[in-house]
Amino acid sequence: PKLVYDFAEGNKSMKQLLGGKGANLAEMTNLGLPVPPGFTITADACKVFLKTGSVPPELADEIDHHVAELEQKMGKKLGQADDPLLVSVRSGAAVSMPGMMETVLNVGLNDDSVNGLAHHSGNPRFAWDAYRRLIQMFGKTVLGMEGDIFEDAIEAAKQAKGTKNDLDLDADDLKALVQTFKAAVHEHTGREFPQDPRAQMDLAIEAVFGSWNSERAILYRRQERIATDLGTAVNICSMVFGNLGMDSGTGVAFTRDPSSGQPGVYGDYLQNAQGEDVVAGIRNTVPLADLEQIDKASYDELMTIMAKLEGHYRDLCDIEFTVERGKLWMLQTRVGKRTAGAAFRIATSLVDEGVIDTDEALRRVKGAQLAQLMFPRFDGDAATDLLTKAIGASPGAASGKVVFTSAAAVEAADRGEKVILVRRETNPDDLHGMIAAQGILTSRGGKTSHAAVVARGMGKTCVCGADELEVDVAARSIKVNGRTIAEGDMISIDGTTGQVFLGEVPVVPSPVVQYFEGTLAADAGDELVAAVDRLITHADETRRLDVRTNADTAEDAARARRFGAQGIGLCRTEHMFLGERREAVERLILADSAEESDAALAVLEPLQRKDFLELLDAMDGLPVTIRLIDPPLHEFLPPLTELAVKVALAKERGEDPGRDALLLTAVERLHEQNPMLGLRGVRLGLVIPGLFKMQVRAIASAAAELKKAGKDPRPEIMIPLVAAVQELQFSRDEVEAVLTEVAAAEGVEWSTPIGTMIELPRAAVTAEQIAEAAEFFSFGTNDLTQMTWGFSRDDVEGSFFSTYLEKGIFAVSPFESIDREGVGALVKMGAERGRTTRPDLKLGICGEHGGDPDSIHFFHEAGLDYVSCSPFRIPVARLEAGRAAL
Ligand code: ADP
Ligand code: MG
Ligand code: MG
Repeated sequence: PKLVYDFAEGNKSMKQLLGGKGANLAEMTNLGLPVPPGFTITADACKVFLKTGSVPPELADEIDHHVAELEQKMGKKLGQADDPLLVSVRSGAAVSMPGMMETVLNVGLNDDSVNGLAHHSGNPRFAWDAYRRLIQMFGKTVLGMEGDIFEDAIEAAKQAKGTKNDLDLDADDLKALVQTFKAAVHEHTGREFPQDPRAQMDLAIEAVFGSWNSERAILYRRQERIATDLGTAVNICSMVFGNLGMDSGTGVAFTRDPSSGQPGVYGDYLQNAQGEDVVAGIRNTVPLADLEQIDKASYDELMTIMAKLEGHYRDLCDIEFTVERGKLWMLQTRVGKRTAGAAFRIATSLVDEGVIDTDEALRRVKGAQLAQLMFPRFDGDAATDLLTKAIGASPGAASGKVVFTSAAAVEAADRGEKVILVRRETNPDDLHGMIAAQGILTSRGGKTSHAAVVARGMGKTCVCGADELEVDVAARSIKVNGRTIAEGDMISIDGTTGQVFLGEVPVVPSPVVQYFEGTLAADAGDELVAAVDRLITHADETRRLDVRTNADTAEDAARARRFGAQGIGLCRTEHMFLGERREAVERLILADSAEESDAALAVLEPLQRKDFLELLDAMDGLPVTIRLIDPPLHEFLPPLTELAVKVALAKERGEDPGRDALLLTAVERLHEQNPMLGLRGVRLGLVIPGLFKMQVRAIASAAAELKKAGKDPRPEIMIPLVAAVQELQFSRDEVEAVLTEVAAAEGVEWSTPIGTMIELPRAAVTAEQIAEAAEFFSFGTNDLTQMTWGFSRDDVEGSFFSTYLEKGIFAVSPFESIDREGVGALVKMGAERGRTTRPDLKLGICGEHGGDPDSIHFFHEAGLDYVSCSPFRIPVARLEAGRAAL
């Protein structure tokens, strides 16, 4: 297969092969935009390199051919001594990983061609600046040298010159710096900086391929759940120069504000600069709007191109461009990352502008983004101590102790402390710390700086460009307006307003939560709330899945109902046996005779009845699935060792251990090696039938009372941990008997469907039989995952899961997102087989997966009727169920 594509040969749909950058450079080229000519080496070539350690043998010829073509087009040869063709060697994967991989600029310069470039451009300073950049980037990226080696040398040169500004270094200074850099290369690598342009290019290509597996790239992919084997394409792009003088420069731009979604002109520009200078924050950039004054022609052309790109991609685009002596060049574009709020607002604005329809708008927002919008905000009425106000780069409200290094952030997070990572600017090596921190605060750089871009991608709060802060990492302190903040001091940052406060600021519910709670109207003037309202309404109209909630209390049920729950999918009754009721449960377990156990049950029944009364009332008119008691009974007794010690101590003191001795005997009797595989669920119901019966009586009499009061209670009784239809049939007969008895005694009628959980592999496999005794199934995917993989859910996290994630055995914990191939196959099997027996069998899911976006899409495909999740996840589930149905 072809391994190299000219920019003119590709298009934006070829991302998998050409990477996002290459595919979009091709698209722009074919749109007739001013893109410097070049070509792309495919990600397939990279895959071969990663597997075998060397590039495919036929690659060299293909590159030769494309270099020759490029040389012909440009009328000069790569590295040619009198007037060199220079290129950049740029990484570009199918999925954007901002700043994670490597790029080398000015490839083709050497000791000869630097003079040619100086002469031809009439600007020796520029030529030497370009050469020192090449050696610097090459040294870091290709030769693996520490960046500090070069930065320290630049710093020393500036100091010798008595300046802080890199522009004050003249041609001779930069020439000297090149000598220093070359010596450093020799010293650190034992070889000379390669002078052969083509060798430079080949080495850079391999380095870019290799950067796919750099530590930070691996970390980023894990964080963002990106596949490990995609590889990166490499773009060879002829150089254009933003560092030729003040009539040149480089910048980044967005077609809309990526933090709020507002239309307008957003971006940063830096005169007389190259490449990363803008994002690295080495000098302060100017707002893009200022380009209009600096170079009106380039500005106007850029505006036209941006409008064209947005129309073409039908979405927010971000752009890299360079102006070389008044001529505009496009270096990159892509559909840009944005904050959660911007995603909603841009999607609905584009609908209003007639660019996309509402279905498409719904496709473009994610449940995870909605979840972010539900995080609390700082309380505007709280007393605050404002330190400074800078750029709100990624929204959210974060408080934490100040730390200055990524390592300190990680350590503190491991201790369970909340921290804010404070830096002058971040670079890709700070990724660990950014993940560990609650928020990020930088003193330099704008909305397009590394910190801002990465934080937005992660949904982490970020304030940047706080130039009133003097951040002294070495001294571990910040000076601001005459005050000093030390490491460990608490600060709060508001990623929407850019405010930085001393101390911890209290938080209040976000407007989006207020909207779901019904305390803020959709049309009250909050544009974000209006956008959320439109898209969630559309999701509700679109979705086939119902959304229920997991709730055990009337309070949770009521909140869930406000959030849009269509019933309760799982009420766990064991929570109702804790607290002061524990004693009655203990008596039940200790009972020697039927009378004693009846007495204990008689204490519990009215309490349970009240629980159900409140719950059914809160969900009046909607189904309430109540699961009969599930966990092993010993969970309600004190732990074995604790009791044993207590009893032994009492005996030693010559005291009577009394009740404790009885309890100890019971605990010993009930002790199991594998309680999760032991006496629990339906087994408990069969061994101690009184418990199940008591619960059913409580449910039935609560329902009867509500019915008599003119209400519409809809209880559903669910029997847990069934593996065989016989188990279910026995329990069912008992449950039905109680229901009939109570209905007769109370003299009212209502219907109570009886069903079961499918949470054991055998239940899924024999679902055809089980459905004979069940009117509904609810897939208990927590236990089903545990039982299918043979993983103990309570133990894996601290044990081998991190190894499994590192080795890529799975990309995400199967307890977090449904394992489609294994556990998911059982869900599908259970659903299909169950419906063979009973076509109107109601199917739901009530594990943690019910609130997980990917899993919701799976349950939609599997044909379930509803998902059930915790109250706070309901809006997310509604949105994702709508998206799944598109
Ligand atoms: P990243 O993916 O990290 O943005 P890029 O490959 O886009 O890396 O390049 C890094 C920087 O160098 C960007 O600012 C880009 O605009 C600039 N750049 C890349 N190629 C060229 C080129 N041919 N001429 C001028 N600048 C370039
Ligand atoms: Mg780029
Ligand atoms: Mg279970």
